[in-house]
Amino acid sequence: MQNRTLFATTALQLMMLIVVSIPAWAKLNVSGFLSRVVTATVTLVLGLALFAHRGDLPSVLTVVVANAAIILAHQVWLDALYRLCAIDRPTRRTEALIAAASLASVAALWAFDASPGQLLLAKPRVVASTLPFLWSGVLWNLALYRGAERPWTLGKRYLAWAAAIAVTLNVARAALYLVSDGTQDPVMAGGSFAAILLVNLMGVFTAVGLIMEVETRARTTLIHANDKLVTAAVTDPLTGLGNRRRLEQMTDALIGASRRNDWPITVMMLDIDHFKRINDQWGHAVGDAVLCATAQHCANNLRDHDVLVRWGGEEFSLVLPRCDAHAAALVASRILAVIRSAPLLPVDGQQVTASIGIATLHPEESSFTDAIHRADCAMYRAKSAGRDRHEFHPTVVAAA
Ligand code: GH3
Ligand code: MG
Ligand code: MG
Repeated sequence: MQNRTLFATTALQLMMLIVVSIPAWAKLNVSGFLSRVVTATVTLVLGLALFAHRGDLPSVLTVVVANAAIILAHQVWLDALYRLCAIDRPTRRTEALIAAASLASVAALWAFDASPGQLLLAKPRVVASTLPFLWSGVLWNLALYRGAERPWTLGKRYLAWAAAIAVTLNVARAALYLVSDGTQDPVMAGGSFAAILLVNLMGVFTAVGLIMEVETRARTTLIHANDKLVTAAVTDPLTGLGNRRRLEQMTDALIGASRRNDWPITVMMLDIDHFKRINDQWGHAVGDAVLCATAQHCANNLRDHDVLVRWGGEEFSLVLPRCDAHAAALVASRILAVIRSAPLLPVDGQQVTASIGIATLHPEESSFTDAIHRADCAMYRAKSAGRDRHEFHPTVVAAA
């Protein structure tokens, strides 16, 4: 009778777990999760079915194989949980110890065959079969405690409660059996309402915890994917710099801070000279490398709060808050000198040069559009004046 109640209870829980695991598998791609849930379930059902036939079948099946199957199912099930919750499994050494303890416990079951009339031996048998569950249950809770980010998700709390109930039940079972007369399993014996209730509670907590954890994982995956998309939309894939959308995003913060503090903002446009020729002569791969190196040289000569973006093609925008046009001209000269002297092309002695246009943001402007346009005009003046130089926009000169 006690085994049938246990069997029915566990079968219901298993159905529940399978029902929650299928959406988990469909929603997330946690590698090896579903295969472990199915393996654990099949093995557990096998173990319980053998248990239920105690007396009808040889005890080696109903005791030894049944317990071995349940211990295995328990370990595989925990492995599935570790994967779902993305927490580190115990070390290899601990896993080896759990496996050894499980083997020892099965061997003990073999040795302490519970044939009728061997009640004394039944006690150590029950204790031996309980230990692996107890130990791995404690390890699972410890791993969850150490590995899960704080604050714990609600799902992980439910899973931790389920594991705590399992540990309590196992401790109670072993302890009570030791002090009982050994004829009946004191926890699972018929009429032990509290035990059946706790087993059911454990199943419900596990299922609820699983559903919540799956939802959390799905949401986190979506948030990560969205973050990646947002970052990609404002990043230039070649140089890794922001693009003009990134500058637009930063506009309000940059202009707001400068206005509040009455700081100037200078905008520069840098365009690589005769870049088409570089591509034509050396190929696009060399052209790309020149673009990346130019970006790096610009970045190396800017302060942390300056902004550098790839405006498009071989043009870069540099926004220098808290910097007037003449201080910016020094930065421009430095950048031009570094580019001029850097060995960017495959043949020694061939230079890459660039031209820079400089403009300042006017006090009434709330976006960089016009200032960038003025810097662009100044850059074309630098091109007309012979390239490899910087030029101011006339409004800068007029204001000086
Ligand atoms: P100027 O000195 O007047 O600026 O001449 P230029 O040759 O640099 O200017 P032009 O606008 O004629 O050529 C720009 C070239 O930049 C044309 C385009 O193929 C190349 N280009 C744009 N984007 C990329 C890129 O991502 N990689 C490479 N390799 N080339 C690019
Ligand atoms: Mg250009
Ligand atoms: Mg160019």
